[in-house]
Amino acid sequence: MPAGGSGQVRIIKRKAEETMAGRDNFSGGWDIRVIRSGRRTVALQIDKDLLLTVRAPYRMSDREIREFIEEKSGWIEKNMRKMERLKDEAEPEPAELLTVEDLRELAKAAADHIPERVAFYAPLIGVDWRGITIRNQRSRWGSCSSSGNLNFNCLLMLTPPDIIDYVVVHELCHRREMNHSPLFWCEVEKILPDYKARRKWLKDNGERIMRRMRMR
Ligand SMILES: [Zn+2]
Repeated sequence: MPAGGSGQVRIIKRKAEETMAGRDNFSGGWDIRVIRSGRRTVALQIDKDLLLTVRAPYRMSDREIREFIEEKSGWIEKNMRKMERLKDEAEPEPAELLTVEDLRELAKAAADHIPERVAFYAPLIGVDWRGITIRNQRSRWGSCSSSGNLNFNCLLMLTPPDIIDYVVVHELCHRREMNHSPLFWCEVEKILPDYKARRKWLKDNGERIMRRMRMR
């Protein structure tokens, strides 16, 4: 549980009746939607996409809502974890599961496409690399070792080209910064000014794609 302080909850006004808030300090961050109506009490709801909905009366201020969320953070965290577990257990439709043959084809396509993108972006970033390995895994999209070996998940071929480019640029930027510091993101942004939208796409859709690979 991160240390409290209502300043950690950021509420951004959308419409009069709906505001969105993000909570940066929580692992993974909470997506919060506030819906104001003529109701008299406040209610919290977490849906299967881990979106926290706060239903509040019109007269309740953003500050009061922030305080309410802080007060209930124990409950929220507990139920977020519960939802996350349920989400993890959910298996995809059998038709969505990738066969061994599918994976082989994806790996082949990745081995064709990804080295080309690495070769395109590396000089722009001003880095080199040692080798490229295509893997199939359910845990990550790519990685970069300190010696410059790049790994990419073949499931990337199930994502749009600009998402593949984002992962390529991300891993290559680790050749400059082996961390996710602001300096690292600054390097990514220099190459892909819209990287946040691409990262969000992966955050929103990545898990669904990875689940198409069988556990065993
Ligand atoms: Zn990274």
